[in-house]
Amino acid sequence: MSSFIKIDHLSKNFGDLEVLRDINIDVREGEVICIIGPSGSGKSTLLRCINQLENPTGGRIIYNEKDIMAGEMSLRDMREEVGMVFQRFNLFPMKTVLQNVMLAPILTKKLNKAEAKQTAMELLGKVGLADKADVYPHTLSGGQQQRVAIARALAMKPKALLFDEPTSALDPELVGDVLEVMRELAKEGMTMIVVTHEMGFARDVCDRVIFMADGYIVEQGNPEDVFTNPKEERTRAFLSRILEN
Ligand code: ADP
Ligand code: MG
Repeated sequence: MSSFIKIDHLSKNFGDLEVLRDINIDVREGEVICIIGPSGSGKSTLLRCINQLENPTGGRIIYNEKDIMAGEMSLRDMREEVGMVFQRFNLFPMKTVLQNVMLAPILTKKLNKAEAKQTAMELLGKVGLADKADVYPHTLSGGQQQRVAIARALAMKPKALLFDEPTSALDPELVGDVLEVMRELAKEGMTMIVVTHEMGFARDVCDRVIFMADGYIVEQGNPEDVFTNPKEERTRAFLSRILEN
């Protein structure tokens, strides 16, 4: 089966600093991939390259057989199809929850307000926040804000979602609700690449775990194998540090 997102010999330098080195990943439609690895290993940069928030230095990103860096798909089309959810939710503070979710589809998909509102309300229902439509983001908990951010990403009807440590800025008791929403999306067949250290989530939900260090993919495999029987010493050392916490 052909891949949905193909990352082919991708590299990224910031000046002399090599942040990504020869990254190769094939993501199939509906697959959920989890990326783990120490801070500074290039995980965020990889996600940012995938949806072109950063320009890769070398290699290719093929999305549905279209070479993104060669301009075979416009940046705008690609951003509509590949959504991103950040560690810090980046909601618009001066807009209500509902407005946050409605805004992008009105601007980019030229939906009329009534259509956008209906979709937004459905999505807020889906993330369990229909009753918060008219409040401002700062009145919500971090976990609620992150669920709004997920609803906002879904409003574009993306074909894939990238998550960059979506729960790591949250108080522990708020993590579960966000993971629950992500679990649901995975079950519905959303293609997802998730940078996370939530091992329970990775084990239950992800089809594949990729361990990165120093800009390389050190090891990948199904979560059970990687977590219980890592092949590489670096993976073992990293996991034992994480599991201690
Ligand atoms: P991770 O998400 O795994 O913690 P990052 O992708 O954020 O790692 O960062 C990888 C490396 O790239 C780090 O050394 C970081 O300092 C560096 N880096 C990230 N963004 C930039 C940038 N815009 N300019 C220069 N260096 C950067
Ligand atoms: Mg990061």
